[in-house]
Amino acid sequence: MKRLKDLNIKNKTVLVRCDFNVPRKGDVITDDNRIVQALPTIKYLLSGGAKVILFSHLGKIKHKLSEEEVEAAKKKNNMLPVFLRLQELLGSDKVTFSDKTRGDKVRKLVDLIQPGEVLLLQNTRYEKGEEKNDPELAKEWASYADAYVMDAFGSAHRAHASTYGVPEILKAEGKEVALGYLVEKEVENLSRCVNVEKADRPYVAILGGFKVSDKIKVIDSLLKKCDKILIGGAMAYTFKKALGEPIGISPVEDDQLEYAKKCFEDAKGRIVLPVDSVVTDAFEGWTKKEVVKDIPEGMEGMDIGPKTIKLFTKELKGAKMVFWNGPMGVFEQKDFQAGTIGVCKAITELEGCFSVIGGGDSAAAAAEFGYKDKFSHVSTGGGASLEMIENDGHLPGIDVIG
Ligand code: ADP
Ligand code: MG
Repeated sequence: MKRLKDLNIKNKTVLVRCDFNVPRKGDVITDDNRIVQALPTIKYLLSGGAKVILFSHLGKIKHKLSEEEVEAAKKKNNMLPVFLRLQELLGSDKVTFSDKTRGDKVRKLVDLIQPGEVLLLQNTRYEKGEEKNDPELAKEWASYADAYVMDAFGSAHRAHASTYGVPEILKAEGKEVALGYLVEKEVENLSRCVNVEKADRPYVAILGGFKVSDKIKVIDSLLKKCDKILIGGAMAYTFKKALGEPIGISPVEDDQLEYAKKCFEDAKGRIVLPVDSVVTDAFEGWTKKEVVKDIPEGMEGMDIGPKTIKLFTKELKGAKMVFWNGPMGVFEQKDFQAGTIGVCKAITELEGCFSVIGGGDSAAAAAEFGYKDKFSHVSTGGGASLEMIENDGHLPGIDVIG
């Protein structure tokens, strides 16, 4: 697979798919980590005399909705704040912005880029054809470039026009395509969690968070690779219900119960569930909070309890590799942070352990509680890192480069 340094870039127009899908409040970027992480690739290209075009998606735009709703989504997900941040990071004279994604205006701006300069295109999802990998759209984007760099790990699990169609066309035309530094680093680190070597055992996975139906599918694959899976967060209640345990009004995905039960049985003791929980009488505006072994009727699990923190810490002892996805509780609220903090502490205190976080909220929690720098690798892609494990190291946006 081609790397950035294999590319011939001097005076060439290089189209780079970045992941600038940053969290925002209104027009204010609340965490610019994804932009900062893209800088090594961008700077390498600029200093090598390339003309650089950057493009990315930002937020969700559902083209099936009414015209007004689509317009509102476009307004909300305008790439302009990313452009302003890029100007701050790279110099305002170096970066220009196209408020369109395609058409004559874009082509004119592409023609104006000088070596050592950047043009940022508008949000790729402004185009209906992006998520459908529309061939006409991919063809137009491909026509802007002499070469393509994939540096959007967070989008590598999606075969969209910008992540799949464009490199496929360029490759067929005999043009160069390569992985950027960010994706190279992700592949290097996550491959270790996929192709497990003896020295990395015991290998423990910790799953939590809220998106149960998205994540539960990975358990099958993880069971083949890991020695143990510890499950906390909202996911734990689907498992508990599947095993006939009381869960009160805790979040549960009823259509996953059978699968959860099967996973648990297949695991033959290698799936470890919480033994106690911090519960409240409501998710918001609760008035009663207690630690319980069995969740009473009308109560909701908000975090793993202290006995579970001890149990998980014990189960982690001696681990040589840990993959963690999903907070153990509602860590955004002070009363339900202990589980997630406990797990962060237990993982980062392990000696000689290769530790990976693959999840946006898990990474945010680790950062908030001061543990982020103690992990070996913090992935920029939650869904992508899980899918990479699920698909035995393969992601469409990366495979297409090879
Ligand atoms: P990641 O982004 O790390 O993949 P998710 O997006 O799946 O993680 O889940 C993060 C969310 O899960 C957080 O907002 C957290 O509040 C929520 N969560 C964790 N445990 C619970 C719980 N017991 N009940 C409700 N929400 C929970
Ligand atoms: Mg999340």
